[in-house]
Amino acid sequence: MAKAKIWFMDARARRFLESMAIKGREILEYSGWLDNLKPGDIVAVKTHMGEAYNVGYLRPVIVRTLVDLLKEKGCKPFVTDTTTMPYHPWISRTLAIDHLETANMNGFNHGTMGCPVIIADGWLGTDDVVVDLEGRGTYLEKQFISRAIADADALLSLAHFKGHPAGGYGGAMKNIGVGGASKRGKMNLHGALAGDKPVFNLELCPGRSCEWWETCEACCPEGGIKITDSGFEIDEENCVYCFSCANLCVNMAGVGAIQRFDHLPALGRRIADSALAAMMTKEPGKTFFMNFAIDITPVCDCYGWTDTPIVNGLGILASLDPVAVDKACIDMMNAAPGLTNSEAEDFEALAPGTKKLNIIKGKDIEPQVYGGVENGMGTTDYEIEEVPLNRSQQTIAKYYPEIRARKLKPMYAENHPLAGLDTASFGKPTEGVENPRHPKK
Ligand code: SF4
Ligand code: SF4
Repeated sequence: MAKAKIWFMDARARRFLESMAIKGREILEYSGWLDNLKPGDIVAVKTHMGEAYNVGYLRPVIVRTLVDLLKEKGCKPFVTDTTTMPYHPWISRTLAIDHLETANMNGFNHGTMGCPVIIADGWLGTDDVVVDLEGRGTYLEKQFISRAIADADALLSLAHFKGHPAGGYGGAMKNIGVGGASKRGKMNLHGALAGDKPVFNLELCPGRSCEWWETCEACCPEGGIKITDSGFEIDEENCVYCFSCANLCVNMAGVGAIQRFDHLPALGRRIADSALAAMMTKEPGKTFFMNFAIDITPVCDCYGWTDTPIVNGLGILASLDPVAVDKACIDMMNAAPGLTNSEAEDFEALAPGTKKLNIIKGKDIEPQVYGGVENGMGTTDYEIEEVPLNRSQQTIAKYYPEIRARKLKPMYAENHPLAGLDTASFGKPTEGVENPRHPKK
């Protein structure tokens, strides 16, 4: 397989035209991917619109700027994500109605995006298609991909690169592999359909003396948890590996009676298989991956909080290859110095060159990458091309089509804000200013 091209712009911004939103558009135009689209193409713009009270997801303006570009090219974009399994008791995106409310609260709606915002797997998460992986999957033979994403002509992945409790990290593959799967697709990629279940350490649960026991019973969508006076009983047959109870037990009870997230060695490869299934719904060249490696937090945007970043913002990495772009982000993150007052400091992973998330998560975070290579989706052999900043007047005019002060001139002539005021009466001049000249309008 030839080297994969990664287009890159860094995260620093010191002058006009260095906004991450503008850089995103510049990279997409520079890459030439838009030449693979034709007017009228329906483009699924897949992003994570954030859980309630999470503040780490991609800012809406980043997505909107790219939607505008797709519309300029004559395409029909829609911004999209899918329902969750759940993943924790308070997740607010398990039904389309709730997901859209959360998206709206977080700044994603038809008005802000300039295009429809669609929950790709429908009301309950059952609107999907079954993709046969044709023997290419390491673990998955078939996968459920959300219908709106599967039916679109093209797929633009806009991923927030960061850590993830179960997947190790989240980037391009997780954005389309987990985020492109329908609800039952998520059950499948967690291994539930193949027979995997969480590990239950019954002896750790104190039973109803745990202050969270009622929530624990309530949080299982299968009704499969019963807390007794001294422990719990689980209906393992019906468990769909949704993480709701596990997240409660680890994060709130602080017990870990239900599996910790470091015990999921196959999940990364299943995510890679699911990402491949999503890609298989598209003609070659009709998928593109942009990873925004900013706000690189240790856990994902599905939680209702956002920790401080473990390394500084790196920039935008984009590629036709989801494996290469994820691997490049991991490598760049590891090469960077860790930040104090973050989990990088807590876990003594500050030195440049340390495998930050491996140390923080206590496991190898790269099974998604290995899986993506094994199933033939991509390569870890990449080359980075830095996209030059274009500071031309023509580029400024693209983002700032008018000099707004021009409009004020005739209005000021009629109705100046300082008209008729004794301006000198409003305060004393700064020390050292001799002969102050007060505006007279
Ligand atoms: S028992 Fe299984 S289905 Fe029920 S909440 Fe826990 S992980 Fe989800
Ligand atoms: S949260 Fe954990 S410790 Fe508390 S009742 Fe549930 S399983 Fe037991």
